Amino acid sequence: MAETDIEFQHFEHLAAYSIAICKECRHSVLPSHIKSHLQHAHKVKQKQAEDIAERVRNWPGLVEYASEIQVPS
Ligand SMILES: [Zn+2]
Repeated sequence: MAETDIEFQHFEHLAAYSIAICKECRHSVLPSHIKSHLQHAHKVKQKQAEDIAERVRNWPGLVEYASEIQVPS
């Protein structure tokens, strides 16, 4: 991992469930909601939130819809 992988400062890839977990609030966040989650929940600047969202969307095998998510118990 390069130190430029900023998405990993905010999100954790829970590969077993194909979801991204926000490290700050421990919620699973859909790829399409990452930008708004960062901006509204954690006051991340728009440019950075966009950058992180784009990187997370490139993670392999992430589910895109809530109905596909199995939240770990
Ligand atoms: Zn969060």
